[in-house]
Amino acid sequence: MTENYRLAKMTWQETEARIRECDTVIVPVGSAEQHGPALPIDNDCFIATRFAELVCDNLWPDTKVTLAPSVAFGFSPHHMAFKGTITLSESTLANVIVDICMSLDHHGFTKILMINGHGGNQTAISNAIHMLANTPTAKVFAIDWWSTIMDKIPEIFTLPVFHACDMETSVAWALGQRVLEEKRVDEPGKSPYPGYVTPSMIAKPPQVQTHTSMKDFTDSGVVGYSTQATKEKGQKAVDLVVQRISDFAKSL
Ligand SMILES: [Zn+2]
Repeated sequence: MTENYRLAKMTWQETEARIRECDTVIVPVGSAEQHGPALPIDNDCFIATRFAELVCDNLWPDTKVTLAPSVAFGFSPHHMAFKGTITLSESTLANVIVDICMSLDHHGFTKILMINGHGGNQTAISNAIHMLANTPTAKVFAIDWWSTIMDKIPEIFTLPVFHACDMETSVAWALGQRVLEEKRVDEPGKSPYPGYVTPSMIAKPPQVQTHTSMKDFTDSGVVGYSTQATKEKGQKAVDLVVQRISDFAKSL
């Protein structure tokens, strides 16, 4: 009965009973932003939610966890040049996360684990965690799914990995996302500051921070080689991510 872990499908009485036997809750955090011509707007929320479900499936019933409803919007102003993107401001996102965690803490959850699906959310999540340092009871954690497999990315996927790339398309595909296979494109990514501002998760130093639009890096919305994506490569990464996040959740 894997459905047992979904907070959204519980009554308040069931939730009260659940909190007595399980004090860990997982919160997926996504975004609503363009992902090139082959992937839909909900991709980061979809991936974060599917990973959270698979972690719950993996842990249940030996380690009981609860799955909170997903945060569907993130911080994506750099994607606004592409249609369909909806962004929160960074302070709004941080405040939304703080309010969600404070609510969960209020009801008695003492361990809150966010699974993040979007790189642009990192600063807001980090700020929220610091704002929650004095939460009455709950300990709050966050994990970016791709960070759990940084050691394996170069051996599984074609670089650069950045956005709607080989890695993100493969993983989304393996997780059951809608992928418009024939629309996949390859765009290695350009830069207004070559050698210093590089659209890649594994970029050679020295790297410099500045404000950019995704339009500075790509015309299609893709940075990477999405034609190289396969479900098989995605599944290899999915299995590792689920195992490594489950191991952390079990260690709590
Ligand atoms: Zn994404």
